Order: sequence, then structure tokens, then C-alpha cells
Amino acid sequence: MVAMRAVSVVHVKQVRCNGIFQWYSFTMKLEDILKDTTTLENGCMVWNKSRTKGGYGQKGMNGTKYYTHRLVCEIVHGAPESKQEVLHSCDNPPCCNPNHLAWGTRKQNVADMLAKGRNRSNGPSGENHGMSKLTRMDVVEIRILSKNGFVLTDLAKMYGVSAAQIHLIVTRKEWKEVPEIGDFFTS
Ligand SMILES: [Zn+2]
Repeated sequence: MVAMRAVSVVHVKQVRCNGIFQWYSFTMKLEDILKDTTTLENGCMVWNKSRTKGGYGQKGMNGTKYYTHRLVCEIVHGAPESKQEVLHSCDNPPCCNPNHLAWGTRKQNVADMLAKGRNRSNGPSGENHGMSKLTRMDVVEIRILSKNGFVLTDLAKMYGVSAAQIHLIVTRKEWKEVPEIGDFFTS
């Protein structure tokens, strides 16, 4: 169990429409967020008011909308280090249970997301390896992971292909027809 602080000054990252981040601080009580959640059987405390398209809870204050899971994470675990984002151990975006939330890096978040997706689909790694076994989605993922700091040898293991093949994908010498897709792991 996480020791909960009832009141905390939170520093919440706000995304401006031009994409520049700014930091604001204010005082907020944990109970002010948790009173608007519903506790599920698995312990998830899901935000039952406004949500984003991605399912994350959002709370408006002083004309700005904040992610509720980030507010909770900040109150309970303190301010994030630069570039940290919230990891949901329960994989449930609207969940605000402090015990299901932790700060982590983009790399951890992406790896976590892929591991969960991979377990559901049994993924490409497993049986016959080789270029033909990769899907277009794998190629997109590999390029995103590479940009986020994954090294060739790790990617090769994850996808069951050689590091040389990963290199060809990352440098766009293979699978040229798969378009570049922007970074969609932002939350
Ligand atoms: Zn949860």
C-alpha cells in the first residue's frame, strides 16, 4: 500500500495547443479526485466524469483540463522527473487508484503496453521467425521503439528477427512502403 498524503502541491504538466509544455502548481486534495471515482471489484477507482477520447479522466480547474491519473500520481508519489509519465499497472486508463499508478519513463510505458498487447495476441515472436512474419504494425512499433531508445539487439529478441533485419527496418531500407507515423504514445 502506498502511504497517502491527503493534501499536496501538485505540479501538473499542461499541453498548450502549440505543443509547448508549461508547468503550473496548485494545492489539491486527493479526496477531491477520489470522490468522483467508482471502485470496481479489481480495485480500480475509475473516474466517472469527463474523459478524453483515450479514456483518461480529466478534471477542469481554472479553465484548464488536467489528467486525473496524473493529478493522483503527483499527489501520492510526488512530482515526476523530467519526461516521466504515468504507468497504469491495471492497464485501465480512467483508473485513479494510487496503488495502480506509478511514474515511469516513456520507454517503460511503451514496453509495458507492447508486452500487454503481445500477451493478448501471442505476437510475432514464438514460432517461425523471419521478415515475412512481421506485420506492418510490427514495423511501425519497431521504428517507434527505436526512436525511444530501444537498441537493435533488444528489438531483435522482442520480434524474433535478426538485429540486421531490425537495422534495415529502422533505416527504412526494408518496408519502405510503411508510412512514418507520429508518436502516438502520449498521455
Ligand atoms: Zn486500476
